[in-house]
Amino acid sequence: MARRIGFILALTAGVALLPFTITSPYYLHIIVTAAIFSIVTLGLDIVFGYTGEVSIGHAALFGIGAYTAGSLFMHLGLGFWPSLLVAPFIAAFFGAILALPALRVTGPYLAMVTLAFGTIVQILINEMTDLGPWLNHFDLTHGPLGITLTTPVFYDWRDLGDAFPPFDMSIKRVREVQYFYVSALFLALTVIIINRILASRFGRAFEALRDSPIASDCMGVSVYRHKVMAFVLSAAFAGLAGVLFAYSEQYIAPNNFSFDLSIQFLLAVTLGGRKSRLGPILGAAIVVYLPNLLADIDLFRQMVLLIAVVAVAAGVYVYFKKPEERAKAAVPVALCLAFYVFSLYLQKITDYKLSIFGAMILFVVYYLPDGIVGFLRKVAGAINPGWARSHAAFDVSGAPGIALTSAGGAAGPILTVDNIVMQFGGLRALDQVNLNVMRGTVHGLIGPNGSGKSTMMNALTGIYIPTAGSIRLEGQEIAGLKSPEIAARGIARTFQNVQLFGELSLIENVLVGLHHTYRSTVFDAALATSRARHEEASARSRAASILSFVGLADLANEEARNLPYGKQRLLEIGRALALDPKLLLLDEPAAGLTAPDIRELMDIIRKISAEGVTIILIEHHMDVVMSICDIVTVLDFGQKIAEGKPADVQSNPRVIEAYLGGAAAQAA
Ligand code: ADP
Ligand code: MG
Repeated sequence: MARRIGFILALTAGVALLPFTITSPYYLHIIVTAAIFSIVTLGLDIVFGYTGEVSIGHAALFGIGAYTAGSLFMHLGLGFWPSLLVAPFIAAFFGAILALPALRVTGPYLAMVTLAFGTIVQILINEMTDLGPWLNHFDLTHGPLGITLTTPVFYDWRDLGDAFPPFDMSIKRVREVQYFYVSALFLALTVIIINRILASRFGRAFEALRDSPIASDCMGVSVYRHKVMAFVLSAAFAGLAGVLFAYSEQYIAPNNFSFDLSIQFLLAVTLGGRKSRLGPILGAAIVVYLPNLLADIDLFRQMVLLIAVVAVAAGVYVYFKKPEERAKAAVPVALCLAFYVFSLYLQKITDYKLSIFGAMILFVVYYLPDGIVGFLRKVAGAINPGWARSHAAFDVSGAPGIALTSAGGAAGPILTVDNIVMQFGGLRALDQVNLNVMRGTVHGLIGPNGSGKSTMMNALTGIYIPTAGSIRLEGQEIAGLKSPEIAARGIARTFQNVQLFGELSLIENVLVGLHHTYRSTVFDAALATSRARHEEASARSRAASILSFVGLADLANEEARNLPYGKQRLLEIGRALALDPKLLLLDEPAAGLTAPDIRELMDIIRKISAEGVTIILIEHHMDVVMSICDIVTVLDFGQKIAEGKPADVQSNPRVIEAYLGGAAAQAA
């Protein structure tokens, strides 16, 4: 704590003194611009780094903020502060509009949509000089002529008398220095707020929907809602930055907010390193400063020398410590050295500006996929593994035992499926199947491959909407509900193909499942209210208990994607338990596990059942089914062919026929 306060004090002092060490208005302006761009890139990282979507529309959102300031000033004479209050909301509104297509398309398609959005906004800014006769030919944006504003003087401290400041200051200088402070302040606020939100359940939700949208929905964390939220938040910061930009530049025109700028923002996040606070700031600084660097040959050589030295140092480290990676590291090191030699030969840099820029981008994207901060983390991780983490490590010691509170209830059927039909084109994956699952039982669902077992689970959890039939949970119809709603009613599941949130740690995976236990909002998270902190603390201790229940407590802070397969399956069960389900669906949990892993799994399933949770178990391992299940339903070609006690089912001729038929077909 003391170290943290010391760090903050030193940083504040450094920022406070900066304008007095850098007296050139030109460089001060560059720093202010870098700070403003950082606010955009930090916001962009929410969408890009966390939800994993590429937005090429952020320059437009930034422009919307700037034009809010410009229009308010031009038409209503409203200055800096009113714009700053309004613009984030207006930009957020457009962010929500931008999020709508994000709910239907992802990846490259969404990137195209955001690109179109950016272009449309730029055209509109250009053309909204005449809103038509019914609005009295209102000129909203001044079109290509742009809008001129004046950087505000917040307080003329020369009024304090001759003693302050202790040196001469023109009004121009007062304005510049103050604007620097205000920009730095807003950057600091942005870092704090975004940091808090991303460390909260919302940040985890964003990452969850990136790594597995299906699992996210089935954990009750609506992909729909959180994608919109990510875009809205991100846009609000772009809007805020837009206002700062308008008043910093004192002149805005439509071509300030073009496609190029969106690319620069994205580049900054990639270059600096996504999923960090430092990365987007570093990236923004580089992007803003690069044109200057490329204009001064001596400075350029010094920077390239620095890069070459770092590369050689990294190369030496790899050579001695990681001989197996020598070949891989040789090329980038050689490239960095060659780049330095090239910079010595280079006489006039201006001719090569764009090529150098392009080469640097290629280099970073190829060799430093996690950006500069990612590279630094790796270096730090070689010294101390704890430093390599992008997430805070949680303490999981002293976790209490779990108690699954919502399980239990009156005996009788908990789930009733009536004549369910699931049609895929010409294929009936489920054909008039009935299923009665009694409370507190372990109900086996077996059948040859392709018989419709997974389809049944997908229909039960809202991934598929059944073509016909009804599904009732404790008497209430759930067919037709969306996955998050079904999860909220108490059905949790695992997946045949493990669906973990790979970049989240184990405990964070479980915490995503505990999302439903929170009442605090994103504002609570941003303000770190006591409600938010209490909920987070109790969720963490609950997550720790769940992890020890499935035997993974000692791995709590590992990334899920680094787990061995067997443990991934257990983690998935733990995450499902976090929903505190009445009904737990397990889709082939033992597939691909070794014999000892299967025994551990069976113990855990028995323990869960002992807690009163009803379980539907799809399984191919007959010994598992026989020893755990109370009752077994057999599917074949989408139809129920048998049901009863495991032993009876096993000796049923139709069942043997179905399995042997499948085996015979496979053999043939
Ligand atoms: P299993 O019993 O092995 O889990 P599934 O439920 O996965 O079987 O599949 C049952 C049948 O439904 C298979 O023939 C499969 O190809 C088909 N099927 C499953 N999902 C879809 C889908 N989304 N679109 C088309 N066919 C599907
Ligand atoms: Mg299956």
